[in-house]
Amino acid sequence: MKSIRALTFDLDNTLWETDLSILNAEDVMAAHLRGLTPAAWMADFSLETFRAVRQQIVQEQPEIAHNLTVVRRQTLVRWFQHQGATEAEAEELAGEGFRIFYQERQKVKPYPGTVETLSHLSKIYPLAAITNGNADLMAMPLGEYFQFSLQSQHFPKPKPDPVMFEEALARLNIEAHECLHIGDDIEHDVIGASQVGMKTVWFNTHGRTPEEAVPADHTITRLEQLVDLLTPHD
Ligand SMILES: [Mg+2]
Repeated sequence: MKSIRALTFDLDNTLWETDLSILNAEDVMAAHLRGLTPAAWMADFSLETFRAVRQQIVQEQPEIAHNLTVVRRQTLVRWFQHQGATEAEAEELAGEGFRIFYQERQKVKPYPGTVETLSHLSKIYPLAAITNGNADLMAMPLGEYFQFSLQSQHFPKPKPDPVMFEEALARLNIEAHECLHIGDDIEHDVIGASQVGMKTVWFNTHGRTPEEAVPADHTITRLEQLVDLLTPHD
């Protein structure tokens, strides 16, 4: 891969296991909100009941589905309004709930080998992140290895739409074929990046056996394998 001049990474389930940090953040958020509200308002609150309200919100407003911050806030507002809170109370509790969730959600544990690999690669290539989630990479310790991180909530459409990939290429000031994108999601990462002409690595984080051939240039199961992949072999 001699022509590669920069690397872009997906974040969730590529650099860390996302479900764990989200579940923990939801627990901490619920406990915090329980401390702020009458007992009845949070009595039925669970992952399932929260997700049911969230689904309603997304069905009503599909145009906000890619903005996880707005979706979560509106879900909390709706939840508290259902419990009998005034609009102002619901807005305030939603803001407070989101603040705690967001803070906890950033406490991710990188997969083994991630820090070493990024540290090594960042000395050779500019690194950037492209995420459909709301991880605040640049505020995390891992952010030190990256030039920038693009979150779908600041764009009209999430991956696999070309818009974020094109913005990353423009900021990196390189051609699409000079950029290697690494991600765990076949549709969002592999297909999305290859549609704009980038080279792609499918990071098969969970050791899946896909039913169909994955249209990636390479597949890896550990991030360290990138180093070998990028080393010219004669
Ligand atoms: Mg991912």
